[in-house]
Amino acid sequence: ILILSMYTLGTAGHVDHGKSTLVQSLTGINPDRWEEEQRREMTIDLGFAWLATPAGRAVSLVDVPGHERFIKNMLAGVGGLDAVLFVIAADEGIQPQTIEHRQIIDLLGIEHALIVLTKCDLVDAEWRDLMIEEVRDGLRDSVMAFAPIVPVSARTGAGMAELLHALDRLLDDVPTRTVAAGVPRLPIDRAFSIGGFGTVVTGTLLDGPLHVGDEIEILPAGLRGRVRGIQTHQTKHTTALPGTRVAINLSGIERSAISRGDVLTLPNALQPTTLIDVQLRLAADAPVLLHNDPLDLFVGAVEVACHVALLDQETLLPGSFGWVQLRLHAPIAVQRGDRCIVRRASPSRTVGGGVIVDPHPPRHRRFRPTVVANLETLARGTPLELLAQVLADGIPLAWRTVVERSGLDAAIAEAALREGCNNGTLLIVTLEGESQKSKIKNQNQELGIGNRESTSENVELLYGAVSVPAAPVPPLPFYQPPTTVIISATGWTDLQATIMALLRDYHARWPLRRGISREEVRSRLALGARLFNDVLARAAHEEWLVDDTASLHLPDHSPTPTAVQQRAISATLAQWRAAPTTPPGRETLDALDPEVLAWLVTSEQLVKVSAEVYLLAETYAAMRRWVDERLQTAQPLTLAAFRDAWTTTRKYAQAFLEHLDDLKVTKRLGDERVQGRGTK
Ligand code: GDP
Repeated sequence: ILILSMYTLGTAGHVDHGKSTLVQSLTGINPDRWEEEQRREMTIDLGFAWLATPAGRAVSLVDVPGHERFIKNMLAGVGGLDAVLFVIAADEGIQPQTIEHRQIIDLLGIEHALIVLTKCDLVDAEWRDLMIEEVRDGLRDSVMAFAPIVPVSARTGAGMAELLHALDRLLDDVPTRTVAAGVPRLPIDRAFSIGGFGTVVTGTLLDGPLHVGDEIEILPAGLRGRVRGIQTHQTKHTTALPGTRVAINLSGIERSAISRGDVLTLPNALQPTTLIDVQLRLAADAPVLLHNDPLDLFVGAVEVACHVALLDQETLLPGSFGWVQLRLHAPIAVQRGDRCIVRRASPSRTVGGGVIVDPHPPRHRRFRPTVVANLETLARGTPLELLAQVLADGIPLAWRTVVERSGLDAAIAEAALREGCNNGTLLIVTLEGESQKSKIKNQNQELGIGNRESTSENVELLYGAVSVPAAPVPPLPFYQPPTTVIISATGWTDLQATIMALLRDYHARWPLRRGISREEVRSRLALGARLFNDVLARAAHEEWLVDDTASLHLPDHSPTPTAVQQRAISATLAQWRAAPTTPPGRETLDALDPEVLAWLVTSEQLVKVSAEVYLLAETYAAMRRWVDERLQTAQPLTLAAFRDAWTTTRKYAQAFLEHLDDLKVTKRLGDERVQGRGTK
């Protein structure tokens, strides 16, 4: 895990209040000329400028002109955006877009902000101080209520040095970003093609690093391609780190196939969705929201029309929170925890903001207490709580399913799984055999987990002299194959009790049987074959069950007759011993308890020769020996010869020899039998 001293800031404020000019005088880069420069030069432009603060921090400033783009920009930045420069011109003060941008910052809960009072050269000191008071008053109820106000003039340069120092003080409070080996996500805010480069997409990278050569997927279309090049701050890199503005040069995907708002990620990392559960806050000055109202959703870099289902209230009142399900008109790729904004189309205005708590919910009915309770846990839950909630039924699930249902980022889910295994609340059912281990290792290598050196060199490369802690790099999350089966610890205890009770009942009911069929247990537990196999393997490994492939039984179980059965067994054996070569036939067999007969056979005391003829094991063996020896001599093996030698009847002789024919010990040729081809 790396700590980055790199920050991404966004600008906000009314049009013409001096945002671009401010960015230019802070960075020397004119954001208004980006498009033009991009055409003129061969460098890939990212739509942002950068600077170094007096304390040596590297700061990206995102200032995409245009109002709608501003909203998307703010959203693309959440997770990547550390703070806001909120620009208000001293001569005009608070204007309509000032109010709307403030509202969006409030709805998104962006805490870190500097209020920059621009164009101070146009007003006198008295007016300026009045304006500072007015701004303070106007932002009283905002998350920016206590943000520092810095008066500047880009024209004269007054206040610019103070602004830079204020920036450092602000960033002192911004938690430094840690980079885990998460799955990278890039909400695409621009896509274009440049001669000699091919397709290029830009955006703020979230969650995890991206490397040149990585195979990627563009969602929601599911297009596959590869990262051919990475640029940030107009320099080429082999790795892009989360939180940075990047331009990604792609191979294998046409520019025309990509739209703004698409998401670039690793293959199969995200599933597109058209249904999301959101905790929504309606803006204080928004009209009342009604069930089924049409809205425009802004999340990441995407805008999509949707209808809102109010799950817990008849109507949502201004300024209040509600649980809603948004039914989207087109698929998007989002993740749990993503911030979003909703707007009404006409009149066009921002009406609310929220957090996605479930990116893949079922279609909910309204006013269901369990639905709301689940959403509340989802909204509150730690990753481990979320895993526990997914596994709350006590049923084993494939890891893939657990991750999907939790809505968690795979790396976060892995970390939570490890935590759960360590504290004894979760259990990996799948045994880690040698083959399994090497499989994991291979997959880890494919994913680039666990075999990569610390990327501190890349950090050095990207940001120059930044301090990367020398502390040992903590172990990366382990990688569980998607088919690995997981269960809650209590679920496992319950499952064990259920299976053992099933076996105990079965053994009590059928004391002479070895065990219950696997299939019967499987259908009683209603488990899929794969889950069930893993469960059995672990049960056998823990030695509370024996799986002899034919059947399952408790370790201490061996077939034992009851007193009644024992009497029947003794009587039967006595009858057979009294007439070993002409034992009792159909009538006696039919009268016998089938369990007893089956047991006499499985315990190898009787051998079934035909439906009507069962022989004592020792008689059967002696007859076999006699036949084997006879076949070695010149004397013919006929039915009559066998009958006479064993003083039996034709019926028994025929049944026995036909049985041997079936086993291919003998082969019939007319009246005689010769050596067969072998034993069945
Ligand atoms: P944006 O729309 O918020 O990006 O505003 P711009 O940066 O494009 O500035 C709008 C106009 O205000 C331009 O004509 C700038 O030259 C002017 N302007 C910007 N900052 C200052 C300043 O500090 N003092 C004065 N006098 N004019 C400024």
